[in-house]
Amino acid sequence: MKTSTIKTDILIIGGGSAGIMAALRAKEINPQQRVVIFEKGNVKYSGCLTKGTDALKVVTVPGTAAPEDYVEDAVLSCEGILDEGPSYEMAKRSWPLMKKLIDWGVGFPKNDGQYEIIKTHAQKGYTVTMKEPNLKGILFKRLQNTDCVILNRTMAVDLIKEDGRVAGAIGMNIRTGELIICNAKAVIISSGGCARFGLPSNGYLYGVYDCPANTGDGYNLAYQAGAELTGLEYTMHLTKDNPECERYAADKGISENNTEFRSTETFLCGGHGLTGIVINEKAESSIPGLFAAGDAANVGKGHLTGAFVFGEIAAETASEYVKTVSNEQAANSRYLKAIEDKIEKWLNTAKPEVTIEEFEYKTRRLIGDFLTSPKNENKLNRGIETMKIMQKELFEIVKIKNTHDLVKAFEAESIISCGILSATASKERKESRWGSFHYRSDYPAKDDEKFLKLLIVKKDEKTNLPAVSLRDPQKVLDLTGNNAGRVTVHE
Ligand SMILES: Cc1cc2nc3c(=O)[nH]c(=O)nc-3n(C[C@H](O)[C@H](O)[C@H](O)COP(=O)(O)OP(=O)(O)OC[C@H]3O[C@@H](n4cnc5c(N)ncnc54)[C@H](O)[C@@H]3O)c2cc1C
Repeated sequence: MKTSTIKTDILIIGGGSAGIMAALRAKEINPQQRVVIFEKGNVKYSGCLTKGTDALKVVTVPGTAAPEDYVEDAVLSCEGILDEGPSYEMAKRSWPLMKKLIDWGVGFPKNDGQYEIIKTHAQKGYTVTMKEPNLKGILFKRLQNTDCVILNRTMAVDLIKEDGRVAGAIGMNIRTGELIICNAKAVIISSGGCARFGLPSNGYLYGVYDCPANTGDGYNLAYQAGAELTGLEYTMHLTKDNPECERYAADKGISENNTEFRSTETFLCGGHGLTGIVINEKAESSIPGLFAAGDAANVGKGHLTGAFVFGEIAAETASEYVKTVSNEQAANSRYLKAIEDKIEKWLNTAKPEVTIEEFEYKTRRLIGDFLTSPKNENKLNRGIETMKIMQKELFEIVKIKNTHDLVKAFEAESIISCGILSATASKERKESRWGSFHYRSDYPAKDDEKFLKLLIVKKDEKTNLPAVSLRDPQKVLDLTGNNAGRVTVHE
């Protein structure tokens, strides 16, 4: 396979909402620094945005709500399992972000001179109606005015680590199979959540709610590199919430009332849900050189606001970080060798019996069977066992005929890894929380005493297995006593 090597200051993995915003901000801060984007699809129309957004979900519009109000509401909506620092930072920057988008030509309709604010939280309203079907196009146009290197059709397949820090990634061109070694001083993961997790009720592998290119690659890459992840037990499914459906119905001239909409498949996501690479309010992960933003990160229920704000924050922190790294380090050849060996293994499968599509179908059906609520110890154990079997069979029985199949095999590897991590986390959370997203029939009650905590999953270096720990959610607001709830202890 052909290989090539590139060098950069900042590598961004995933050119969706968070990724584009990170690239734009990095260039705004320092036009001289080099920025490379690996995008599995095409930056022009990839990611969640083109699936249709009709609101900026979190904005603290002055005069209607304060960032502190949002944090209080967000903690309630996440049933206490939320690091407040990143959410507070997001809320503080949400109004300046909206003003910036307006300057860029993004439409936010007004009624009687007021923005339309929908109340989706318990106490106050933060969701501002946005009418901008071309939002990705607006962002893409701005990106075209920079000298960022955009590598479309390039899927990150491994992170490079040198001297304990993340120092780049290996990408694969999804059409030619060319391997690209990118030596970087800093890496931002913004590759979305794991949309292709459970199977949708229509049975189509790609008929999912979230962007189907998002297969939990970022979660898996970060996990394999030793970073902390959280919220993997938050296995969610949504009811219809998609302007795309509205537009589809309008285009076809049918009434939405006559159309049957079901709840979505189970998926993992940091934007709608709580799953993600653990980051702090500066978008730093638990390992040096690695930053995360958007649905790949755990800014609980941050939606598009979280992706945009943390795209920017990740770029700001990474831009500072690269100044501390003297040179982008040449990748140790073992990384390339490991990927080449893996590809070799796939191309020479001992008993090629099933297509990769059949294999993915079965994996995701098993995720539905064992990893989705109602959960219990027995099902979750079976889930871990079956995912491990799938992990093995991926290299033993799957026919890999071409580069396209190879890409899907890498994706299946991420989906299975997410399955193992999710089952492990769900097993450990011996309580029920978040309604049907984590319901344990063997522990049907909520247990705040033991489990009002974030469940952290991380690879154990010695055993190579996921290790789980619990920690208290980070608090930044003092909401007790007579302080009227507005004492900020964290700046
Ligand atoms: C249907 C729908 C409607 C929504 N509506 C709203 C709304 O109205 N308001 C709101 O605030 N939020 C809404 N959201 C949520 C919001 O759109 C997302 O939270 C946000 O866009 C996520 O941005 P992201 O950059 O993390 O992910 P994405 O924009 O999905 O970008 C991820 C990118 O990574 C790429 N990628 C994946 N794997 C790899 C890899 N291995 N290598 C390279 N690239 C990779 C993908 O191709 C993709 O382009 C909606 C989401 C959906 C799906």
